[in-house]
Amino acid sequence: MNTPRIEIDLEKIAHNAKRLKELYASKCIDVTGVTKVVCGDTNIAKVLVKSGINILADSRITNIMKMRDANIKAQFLLLRTIQSQAKDVVKYADISLNSELAVIKELSKFAEKQNTLHKIILMVELGDLREGIMPSDLEDTVNKVIMLKGIKLVGIGTNLACFGGIKPDYKKMKHLSSIAKNIEDKFKLKLKFISGGNSANYNWFMTTKDVGKINNLRLGESIFLGCEALNRKPIPKLFTNAFKLVTEVIESKIKPSLPYGDIHQDAFENTPKFRDIGKIRRVLLGVGVQDVLVFGLTPILDINILGASSDHIIINAKQTDLKVGDTVEFNLDYGALLSTMTSPYIINEYK
Ligand SMILES: *Cc1c(COP(=O)(O)O)cnc(C)c1O
Repeated sequence: MNTPRIEIDLEKIAHNAKRLKELYASKCIDVTGVTKVVCGDTNIAKVLVKSGINILADSRITNIMKMRDANIKAQFLLLRTIQSQAKDVVKYADISLNSELAVIKELSKFAEKQNTLHKIILMVELGDLREGIMPSDLEDTVNKVIMLKGIKLVGIGTNLACFGGIKPDYKKMKHLSSIAKNIEDKFKLKLKFISGGNSANYNWFMTTKDVGKINNLRLGESIFLGCEALNRKPIPKLFTNAFKLVTEVIESKIKPSLPYGDIHQDAFENTPKFRDIGKIRRVLLGVGVQDVLVFGLTPILDINILGASSDHIIINAKQTDLKVGDTVEFNLDYGALLSTMTSPYIINEYK
């Protein structure tokens, strides 16, 4: 089997998806499965649907097109809408998240042309300062959106803990609930989705007695990596190792721990500093920064990552007896998983 490869355990993903769906259903919250970290991988998407998830969300319309082409039976939600892609958004996504009227007008234009109804969820800013309409501007936007042909407002949502690291707590969720209620009362409409956030909402969910009007969460990381996204604590009864990066030793030699010669910049413009711990077994792996966000890797063996360049990771092999051709495995965090799944150099192997 070729390396580098990522081993993907579909049964573990299915288990996590089912368990999270049950858990959130216990307080009437439905789970939308977010496929962007796996680039809309169709084998994984199929598993999510089989596990009872009816809506799949992705940030890229090309990933949604790929999943549709693979005949995956789900509704598709686009997480990030780009104005110039409006035609494809209307054609391939059932629902999209939006925060700009100009973009929604463009969606309306193509929905009319294609003679369909495109559903939108308006994103509300609650302090994380990525996407979202300021709450004070929301009524005005809703007023304009409900006049647009080909567009159906089906919900409001918010996204926290992504840019500003702002925690989705009781206060934030209560605020979103009250905004939703206000919109429903004022415009005499029913919002199908009150989408409270992502994998970072786990602690709020577990500790709150009252989820208010929140009835949807968009989950990626917790399904795939089995952890919540505020402190990266494992969620009980979930697998945290559904993905494993398998790399290969391409050189293994006893060498000094301290580079010798006149020290200048390394490949990435840093001037490296090293500690002299005498001679060590240094192992080179045939994978590098062009393949994976290296600092998101955790070796399964007791070895240390010393550094990396474009095509190599350099390891202190410690007491292990790693030889050329041996494989070395790593667990991945969100950034490492994202980069690995995106890299064209890494093979996906499904188990
Ligand atoms: C990526 C993303 C999610 C999923 O986040 P996870 O932390 O992986 O659960 C949810 N909503 C939006 C808008 C996103 O961009």
